[in-house]
Amino acid sequence: MDYKSMRLFLFDMDGTIYLGYDLFPFTSELLATIRAQGHSYLFMTNNSSRSVADYVIKMKKLGIDAVPEDFITSSQVTAMYLLDHYDGKKLYVSGTESFKRELESAGVKNIYDTYREDIDVVVTGFDTELTFRKLEDMSKLLTRDLPFIAANPDLVCPTEFGYVPDCGSVCGMIYNATGKKPYYIGKPRPEMPLYAMERMKQKDPLITKENTLVIGDRIYTDIACGVNAGVNSLLVLSGETTADKAAQSETKPTAILSDCGELLKILKSEE
Ligand SMILES: [Mg+2]
Repeated sequence: MDYKSMRLFLFDMDGTIYLGYDLFPFTSELLATIRAQGHSYLFMTNNSSRSVADYVIKMKKLGIDAVPEDFITSSQVTAMYLLDHYDGKKLYVSGTESFKRELESAGVKNIYDTYREDIDVVVTGFDTELTFRKLEDMSKLLTRDLPFIAANPDLVCPTEFGYVPDCGSVCGMIYNATGKKPYYIGKPRPEMPLYAMERMKQKDPLITKENTLVIGDRIYTDIACGVNAGVNSLLVLSGETTADKAAQSETKPTAILSDCGELLKILKSEE
């Protein structure tokens, strides 16, 4: 892969630019180098319970000066998807207050969080404010044949003690009750890189699939979304995936490096 011809770098976060609460030592210089070379980057996250403002605070704690525009989240991409496919429809939304605010600020209208007969589409995010009433509302609506959209397919979300059920697990409960599976928006679906490209083309019209690179540590989410979107993908072995696992996987990244520090060396070489 010709790394130096890449114009848009889409970074997964945990395992790629930091690990847990520790920033990798090369991350700040890598981000600065990409911008100094006139190129762009975004941070991609599947987590639809936290707002971009929460991530800005987390990055500041880690030592990265990020602004809200540096992120693309599954909530934002869900909003864009809803505007493209269901604009003007009445939406039942099971999600956190911050998820609903994120949809509204992107221009999504007709958001309801109580059952009504005239709902057209059922939408869910990673709802850390979930109640049994919401499960019942969604089940009742989906017993009718309504479109069902979910922000991210993750089964679990890491915490300081282990894991809690994420959006995909709640959708599993709904599936058990109604037989309905959602259309998932976040990684590994192609929507996140595709909408990221659309957004960043306004800044850099030369961005294409050929010069867009998804970088992540998980094959079945990060690399798969790059492959599904038809853009380049770089697997880094600084998080979840070992070299052995990568060799066995059917999903193949465009390239593999041990970590983003190697990417930095390549971008800085032959300058
Ligand atoms: Mg990761």
